[in-house]
Amino acid sequence: MFIAFEGGDGAGKTTQIQLLRDRLVAAGREVVVTREPGGTALGQEIRNVLLHGDHVAPRAEALLFAADRAHHVATVVRPALERGAIVLQDRYMDSSIAYQGAGRELDPAEVKRLSLWATEDLLPDLTVLLDVTPEVGRARRGEVHDRLEREADDFHTRVREHYLALAATDPGRYLVVDAALPAEQIAALVAQEVQS
Ligand code: C5P
Ligand code: MG
Repeated sequence: MFIAFEGGDGAGKTTQIQLLRDRLVAAGREVVVTREPGGTALGQEIRNVLLHGDHVAPRAEALLFAADRAHHVATVVRPALERGAIVLQDRYMDSSIAYQGAGRELDPAEVKRLSLWATEDLLPDLTVLLDVTPEVGRARRGEVHDRLEREADDFHTRVREHYLALAATDPGRYLVVDAALPAEQIAALVAQEVQS
């Protein structure tokens, strides 16, 4: 089973992944927790360029995220799924569709096609969208650490709206949760969805 966690910066993805991991491990499952960009050694190098490099042209940025994703899916995610592990991933292709597609105003449909090509059409079984407003996200993440966190609120508004639009196109494959709820309450909603 492949579960992706999506949402704006400061949504609480890392916390929720840890809580779900603990629950699944206690139930005796093999769980692989991973993230993008940066879930492989190559991906770490790409992440470094993306977050700490100087300006990266939007199309180059989209291709770098896609390259990270292609390598990560081929070498980490697919092998784990094939041996029956549950993969919990911090961000996946919806991040690119929302950030590079809507945020950067490249065409979201084209960014999606690029991601499908990069992953040979691997879609999550479930995507948990932690829906966060730009204001709450900004307050939660605190100090700015990287180039990509420096974007203005209108960028984050486009990202958020596109995430919600993606979830609306395929409600059966998404769980949308208000990221402002207490972490334990969100964890219970996620656990309920994973069991069902
Ligand atoms: O989720 P994480 O903190 O690892 O993401 C690092 C930075 O990259 C964040 O500022 C995030 O907004 C940005 N990002 C992006 N496009 C993606 C994935 C992440 O701009 N496809
Ligand atoms: Mg971050």
